[in-house]
Amino acid sequence: MKVIEKIRAASEEGKVVFSFEFFPPKTEDGVDNLFDRMERMVSHNPSFCDITWGAGGSTADLTLDISNKMQNMICVETMMHLTCTNMPVEKIDHALDTIKANGIQNVLALRGDPPHGQDKFVQVAGGFACALDLVEHIRAKYGDYFGITVAGYPEAHPDMIQGEGGVSLEGYQNDLAYLKRKVDAGADLIITQLFYDTDIYLKFVNDCRQIGITCPIVPGIMPINNYKGFLRMTGFCKTKIPLEIIAALDPIKDNEEAVKAYGVHLGTEMCKKILAQGIKTLHLYTLNMEKSALAILKNLGLIDDAKISRSLPWRRPANIFRVKEDVRPIFWANRPKSYISRTHGWDQYPRGRWGDSGNPSYGALSDYQFMRPRSRDQKLQEEWAVPLKSVEDVHEIFMNFCLGKLKSSPWSELDGLQPETKIINEQLGNVNMKGFLTINSQPAVNGEKSDSLSVGWGGPGGYVYQKAYLEFFCSKEKLNVLVENCTAFPSLTYIAVNKDGLYLSNVGLNAVNAVTWGVFPAKEIIQPTVVDPASFMVWKDEAFEIWTRGWACLFPEGNPSRKILEQVQSSYFLVSLVDNDYIHGDLFEVFKDI
Ligand code: FAD
Repeated sequence: MKVIEKIRAASEEGKVVFSFEFFPPKTEDGVDNLFDRMERMVSHNPSFCDITWGAGGSTADLTLDISNKMQNMICVETMMHLTCTNMPVEKIDHALDTIKANGIQNVLALRGDPPHGQDKFVQVAGGFACALDLVEHIRAKYGDYFGITVAGYPEAHPDMIQGEGGVSLEGYQNDLAYLKRKVDAGADLIITQLFYDTDIYLKFVNDCRQIGITCPIVPGIMPINNYKGFLRMTGFCKTKIPLEIIAALDPIKDNEEAVKAYGVHLGTEMCKKILAQGIKTLHLYTLNMEKSALAILKNLGLIDDAKISRSLPWRRPANIFRVKEDVRPIFWANRPKSYISRTHGWDQYPRGRWGDSGNPSYGALSDYQFMRPRSRDQKLQEEWAVPLKSVEDVHEIFMNFCLGKLKSSPWSELDGLQPETKIINEQLGNVNMKGFLTINSQPAVNGEKSDSLSVGWGGPGGYVYQKAYLEFFCSKEKLNVLVENCTAFPSLTYIAVNKDGLYLSNVGLNAVNAVTWGVFPAKEIIQPTVVDPASFMVWKDEAFEIWTRGWACLFPEGNPSRKILEQVQSSYFLVSLVDNDYIHGDLFEVFKDI
């Protein structure tokens, strides 16, 4: 979706929206950590996030890659910066074609700074001279597909600023007139350069309105995190620093914590003043740090850790080609990135009902399904690569994960347990100790308010429902007992399958079972999660493969622990169990005498 449409929709509801800027880190570890950080920051629902284009095009491939992952894996509306420096038109088009193919609709079109070591911008052969050329090109070649944002300079572009005297009136007016040309050429949003004098920003907005610029002019706020960095950045951008800020920083400049705290205070006060003028958008230059940006938003009452809301039980896709997706099989609940990657090539998504599961063209299992960020790899190594003497040790590790004692699991891409799992974690611990090794679950819910912190989704005003669900590995012997017990619990339906595809179930292969649904004012019933036997057969290969490629591989070749895991993998069954009586049922009763 175009960012401008999101901003307009929020404005109609009188809501304040905010966004975060990131830049491509220099190391692979840095990139991994950035995604972890984004994941946390995106849970606060920014209206979009943007990623910069390295000076002189130095990060082109990385920026493209990060943009793709932001849009499709983190599922946040992504705006990619694109500059003209060192970019002949073919390279510009390659970048735009790539993000278009990845379902990204937003670009921040910039001229860019001169490459390192040069002080003047030089137009590359076959390239563009300024952002205006780039905006015109994007509109001419890509029509309306992209939402285009451009940069605005409340204190005028640094090239226009002459020494201490600042910009001349004529220079300022030329800069404004040129900004209007960028908007007239098709830009629909302006993000400003950082500033620390809020009055200058407010005057700039007013001046823009006077010459007929009507689009939102989003203030770029850079929290001060570090004194030297602040001086460097404001020096480079020729930003005016009000005297009271210099006076406040001077006595604390060597105390990093005090500088940060002041930065949060200043950022909060600046934003309050801006919001008080009826401006409803804030853009935070995070410099890839989360604390100060989030602290400012908390101070403003725009975010609250205790009230993180989900629009669906899984994060809604941002990719323009899959925004209508509204139902998923429950099996990938803890592996959403894997699900997205395996369904990446789908050209349509089931609507309302999981009706076309008869031909689900899931992508084949690839290395991607078993790739982990280094930070997660380290956690798994610490928590799961412990010597195993018997299968009971395996049971214990699963139990510890369900009790929240471990933060990682080879079967999960998430950090720890989902909030709703905590409702049933003791029962889960018990069944794991009995040899039913759970990898996915949800408690029964009968009409909880949709803004409930543990099980809610879809925003306030509705009610949510779900059937109790459990998915686990167990031995053939345990499965036999369980199946026997199930005859006394007619509300239970199960599907079981082993690695080789030996299948056992008390429902038909086409019996798609809605296990989560919600009822909202003036809407049809929303049914975002199903148990679908056909998808289960696709999922089982991934689930079994994780025994070796997710867990056993953490041990050195020839280690006896590997043998135990391989035996479990080849002899256990994967079982999906639903209690269809979401009102009176107790799924855990069936395990009581085992
Ligand atoms: P332009 O809009 O082309 O303007 C540059 C200057 O030239 C202005 O002073 C303008 O008035 C003048 N000018 C140009 N053409 C004309 C004309 N025909 N008539 C009159 N005046 C003209 N840099 C990066 O390398 N990567 C990034 O990701 C990045 N992100 C940024 C994000 C934001 C929000 C901002 C504010 C800046 C960002 N920059 C980035 C820095 C930016 O590239 C530089 O400030 C660059 O020097 C100017 O880019 P621009 O798009 O503003 O240029």
